[in-house]
Amino acid sequence: MSVPLTVLGTGMAGLGLARQLRARGSERPITLITADSGDDYSKPLLSTGFAKKMPPQRLVSRDALQAADELQAVLRTHTRVDAIDTQVGQLALGSERLVYGELVLATGAAPRPPFDIPESLGGRAFTINDLDDYRAFHAALMTLGRPGRVAIVGAGLVGCEYANDLRAGGHEVVMIAPESTPLMRLLPEPLGRALGEAFMDIGIDMKLGRVLEELQGEKAGAALTLDDGYSLEADLVLIATGLVPRIELARQAGLEVSAEGIHTDRYLRTSVPGIYALGDGACVAGLNAMYVQPLQASAKALAATLTGTPTPVSYGAWPILVKTPACPVVALPPRQAPARWRVEGEGADLTAIAEDEEENVIGFALTGRCVRRKVELARAAPALLV
Ligand code: FAD
Repeated sequence: MSVPLTVLGTGMAGLGLARQLRARGSERPITLITADSGDDYSKPLLSTGFAKKMPPQRLVSRDALQAADELQAVLRTHTRVDAIDTQVGQLALGSERLVYGELVLATGAAPRPPFDIPESLGGRAFTINDLDDYRAFHAALMTLGRPGRVAIVGAGLVGCEYANDLRAGGHEVVMIAPESTPLMRLLPEPLGRALGEAFMDIGIDMKLGRVLEELQGEKAGAALTLDDGYSLEADLVLIATGLVPRIELARQAGLEVSAEGIHTDRYLRTSVPGIYALGDGACVAGLNAMYVQPLQASAKALAATLTGTPTPVSYGAWPILVKTPACPVVALPPRQAPARWRVEGEGADLTAIAEDEEENVIGFALTGRCVRRKVELARAAPALLV
């Protein structure tokens, strides 16, 4: 019998790895440990649920019991690992000590609010990064018994998707961010502007180029003041200001980490033998890609490695599909600053191609009807990790 495997995290990375191992016929004992409910769900669907009036339970594809059963694994839910002792191969779970054979860290990334949430806001400020968060936000919205007024802080992928989804679900939405256009990390300015205009057309109140200066609880809602003196009220505040890889456990255990994540090589091996990492928390050969395609490629490669076929992971040229039906977006951001962006098209239907000094395509961004060019352009772009 092979060494038992312990996997921390039951997000798409942790469960994906366990599934790949079983698909390869591995019979090794697997223990999965998660701080959350352990239900199997697709995280990208969290930002599509409000338009479809989806109750949280409908987002669960298998509950934790079914997932454990399907994977023939022990699954410990609502269980937080506090420390890893690499000297003796043990995990600390409160006062309990759990021996591991080999260990996989699939602990994901955590929201990064840029300010402390004032106590006066009570349960009216949220981040939504997992199903439990979705449950809490959904319950607060439903409790209103009417369409909510939601202030979204942040104009990145998560903020934009929730803005579009909540608006399509009939809620009033105001978006606040310091950037002048939404999705600034993915889109050059003309395409970001097109997305912003499409958002305004569907009734999202865009307060861009402004910083949230004050946030307070007030009566049954929240009072927000921006740096230009503008103030507004909202029922709920959704903070979507980015995610940071969870590195603390690994750092305390002496593994090599940085702000980019837990360092691994392309075999997903961390700096400590017998410990691997993948998913949003991992920085694989210098690249932390917080998306599904890279973690699926990692789960497949690591399952092969753990079943006796050492396999380095490769990420193709994977375009990111942003779920903003008001103005569909596809982007493959360049890894280095482009020498130029070539922008073509009209209205909301724009193509932007990032080129290096030698006019090689190193990335692209598409909006509106131009998203159809995704496959053609992805073929011309370089793979991100080969
Ligand atoms: P997570 O899902 O964060 O899982 C981490 C796990 O670790 C959890 O089970 C957690 O409980 C556990 N854990 C952490 N610390 C501990 C501890 N100390 N003890 C025990 N357990 C612990 N990507 C795309 O490619 N396309 C999209 O359209 C897309 N849409 C998205 C929409 C939203 C709203 C969000 C938030 C993300 C989206 N992403 C998308 C990103 C994608 O969903 C993530 O890259 C992916 O889900 C990360 O999975 P993970 O398993 O690495 O991490």
